Amino acid sequence: MEIFNVKTSQRTDFIDITQAIEKKVKESRVNNGLCCLFVPHTTAALTINENADSSVKNDIKLKLNALVPPEEFYTHFEGNSDAHIKSTLVGNSLNIIINSGKLVLGTWQGIYFCEFDGPRNRNVYIKIIAG
Ligand code: ZN
Repeated sequence: MEIFNVKTSQRTDFIDITQAIEKKVKESRVNNGLCCLFVPHTTAALTINENADSSVKNDIKLKLNALVPPEEFYTHFEGNSDAHIKSTLVGNSLNIIINSGKLVLGTWQGIYFCEFDGPRNRNVYIKIIAG
């Protein structure tokens, strides 16, 4: 397993980690297999979506904040329940097929680290399995 560090700079922040993960796949020398990504945090997530037009990620952030507003009444004492809920809605793991040494993604797809309670130092666990 490898650990990839992500520094986030805003409370809600979507960071494109596609190139960094592709580099890890290349370094692994696994030509065909599976790239498993996991976020060991309860207020962050991973998702795959469009990385060509940045307005898409901005719309996702705006809509998630509208659906789960930070200032709502919650019982959790830390005051970051909205971030926990967004983490659960978006999800904390991804599996991406590796074919001929490359991640199999659609033309417009990129891998995003989603921060919901930043800024923080975060980790993404990576396991690359040949097969
Ligand atoms: Zn909390």
